[in-house]
Amino acid sequence: MKIYNTLTTQKEEFKPIEPGKVRMYVCGPTVYNFIHIGNARPMIVFDTFRRYMEYKGYEVNYVSNFTDVDDKIIKKANEEGVDADTIAKRYTEECKKDMKSLNVRPATTHPQATKEIDGMIDMISTLIEKGHAYAAADGTVYFRTRSFAPYGKLSHKNIDDLRSGERELKVTGEEQKEDPLDFVLWKPKKEGEPYWESPWCQGRPGWHIECSVMSKRYLGDEIDIHAGGEDLIFPHHENEIAQSEAANGKPFARYWMHNAFLNIDNVKMSKSLNNFLLVRDIIGKYDPQVLRFFMLSAHYRSPLNFSAELMEAAKNGFERMTECAAKCSRIAEKSGDAMTAEETAAHAGTEEFVKKFEAAMEDDCNTADALSAMFELVKYINTSLNENSTGAFAKALLEKLTLLADICGLDLMPKAEALDSEVEALIAERGQARKDKNFARADEIRDQLLAMGIELKDTREGVTWKRIN
Ligand code: AMP
Ligand code: ZN
Repeated sequence: MKIYNTLTTQKEEFKPIEPGKVRMYVCGPTVYNFIHIGNARPMIVFDTFRRYMEYKGYEVNYVSNFTDVDDKIIKKANEEGVDADTIAKRYTEECKKDMKSLNVRPATTHPQATKEIDGMIDMISTLIEKGHAYAAADGTVYFRTRSFAPYGKLSHKNIDDLRSGERELKVTGEEQKEDPLDFVLWKPKKEGEPYWESPWCQGRPGWHIECSVMSKRYLGDEIDIHAGGEDLIFPHHENEIAQSEAANGKPFARYWMHNAFLNIDNVKMSKSLNNFLLVRDIIGKYDPQVLRFFMLSAHYRSPLNFSAELMEAAKNGFERMTECAAKCSRIAEKSGDAMTAEETAAHAGTEEFVKKFEAAMEDDCNTADALSAMFELVKYINTSLNENSTGAFAKALLEKLTLLADICGLDLMPKAEALDSEVEALIAERGQARKDKNFARADEIRDQLLAMGIELKDTREGVTWKRIN
């Protein structure tokens, strides 16, 4: 397996620290809003990578955090007049729902920053002891960036070029820093903000220290892969390396994988630019699998521009696969005969496409080429299978197709059960909204269900529902 490593700017053969095991950390979202489809890109691509590694027989320890204390969360809480914890909990749960609909499997562990404060205080204390950090008069603790000689090795920046930011930083009132390049590890609380006790002041951690600490706690000092969107290379991941390597005295992550942006009109989709589409907006209009298919239709390191045309193309592509699966499954219901000799030979022919699929995935997780191999398999199945084929042949072909689809996290067979539980959950939410007299939300849910092809009927016995397409 070759992985493009941001650290070395090379595609490198993957060699795990411990044979047969992958220790992987993926930076997760800051939970102050519903996730947008840009946030969904790393979730989907690295989930697919994980599935492939598991298919290859690796045991993958996959850790992905929720940043649940942050300025944006506090701002949102103040706007709503609730505490920060309420906001973080609400959007963590909502994020998990979106991940589920996109078939993103839960991580082995989803640590939350607010539950790991002790570990952060420990690591910051170690950094101070080792001379890599210092506390200023007001209790802010800074990382002494120049004390970590390799600083800049991930983003390929020269530390002296970074000094150009100096003037800018001076006006932000951070004169108490020894050096403008120093970054915050711990900051004092402001009025009305959540805080924790620490040896330096009542306050809260900086963002970067969270990931260094959570990665250490759940995966150890040295990990195989650290991943996230490319906007995290600098400063977030650069700072994580500085903190972890300075504190632990060991190399941190061997491979750094970064996905390119999901754009809209060729501009990065982001909450701050207000050009975002929520995952749940899209899956009200399309099958969530189509969004997943769309994300995988480009290599994860290529920018991907969202457009209605590309989504339509993804929808058509995905339908070609589900139709093929439906055909196989219909013919597979025939009982009786074993495969004919001709069918056995034809079945062996599918190996070529599995090999192509694997070769694409081995080449730095090239899901675009992997999907092309799946299309070739679909074409091959459609020409090999007809109404006179045996059920056994159809079943064997379907197994090959679903084997590859599973690696991509695509469900080709409609799952009535999964849909049912989603519908039931929405109906329950609508019931609560009506009780709370939040009729706008109740109507919104009715419309969302309608878009999913579900019609509701309010009867005296309660709410009933039926599929309308
Ligand atoms: P955030 O909540 O902004 O910290 O982002 C969570 C994850 O989503 C990080 O890995 C980001 O790099 C990634 N991300 C955010 N916006 C985009 C985008 N437009 N395209 C791809 N990845 C993104
Ligand atoms: Zn992180």
